[in-house]
Amino acid sequence: MKKELSPAEVERLSEEFESATPQEIIQWAVDTFCPDMALSSSFQTHSLPLLHMVKQIHPEMRIFFLETGYHFWDTLMFREQLEHLWGLNVVDLRRDDSWNTFLRRFGQDLPETNPTLCCYIRKVQPMQIATADLSAWITGIRRDQTEQRANARILEYKRDGLLRIAPLLNWTKADVEAYMYQYDLPKHPLPEDQYPSVGCKPCTRAVMPGEDDRAGRWAGKGKTECGLHTDLFDKKTLTSEDFNLITGK
Ligand code: SF4
Repeated sequence: MKKELSPAEVERLSEEFESATPQEIIQWAVDTFCPDMALSSSFQTHSLPLLHMVKQIHPEMRIFFLETGYHFWDTLMFREQLEHLWGLNVVDLRRDDSWNTFLRRFGQDLPETNPTLCCYIRKVQPMQIATADLSAWITGIRRDQTEQRANARILEYKRDGLLRIAPLLNWTKADVEAYMYQYDLPKHPLPEDQYPSVGCKPCTRAVMPGEDDRAGRWAGKGKTECGLHTDLFDKKTLTSEDFNLITGK
């Protein structure tokens, strides 16, 4: 049975965790929710501290990787390398087969023509399906990454019974770099100064000097998030209005 916290408990703990270390938050999460909990990771350089902490605290934890079919081969190699080097329990999540007919007819240019629908099919829905029976989900988002993330809470119910836990929410890019340096962690093979944030290949370009770290994600597409950390992920059943939103109607 799913373990659920009351809104008051979530509020109290979230406040308390503002001054806790990420390791303390992860340990609490493991003690409270495992085995009904998973971590999601995009296997970028800045994902390494969280993966490294989880490997030390609870190496069996499932690590969801959204295998969209559009990754840079560098990302897939890095994911493979870390899985074996650190003995991680990585689970690839793929889109539902029910989209086959649609994608055969209309899917060719979907990242260009409708990235919100493409992300829904390849990221949001697979995560919704994979987390349907879980009590909690750990993610590596930080407040300093986007405007939307700046307002996030360390503990937040994303849907009935699914608690999002963000142990690194308070960390800055400098904290990540310091941890990477302290433990001499490996780095994603793409040059860090050009690709500080790496997503799917059709939706990631190199950033120019002085640009924001996420400026290369969905550049020129009016989009900054895939939907996992926005309201879209909260919808268990899409209304026609939601569907119009993601199809751009
Ligand atoms: Fe599709 Fe781009 Fe989203 Fe990847 S990031 S799922 S290619 S729209």
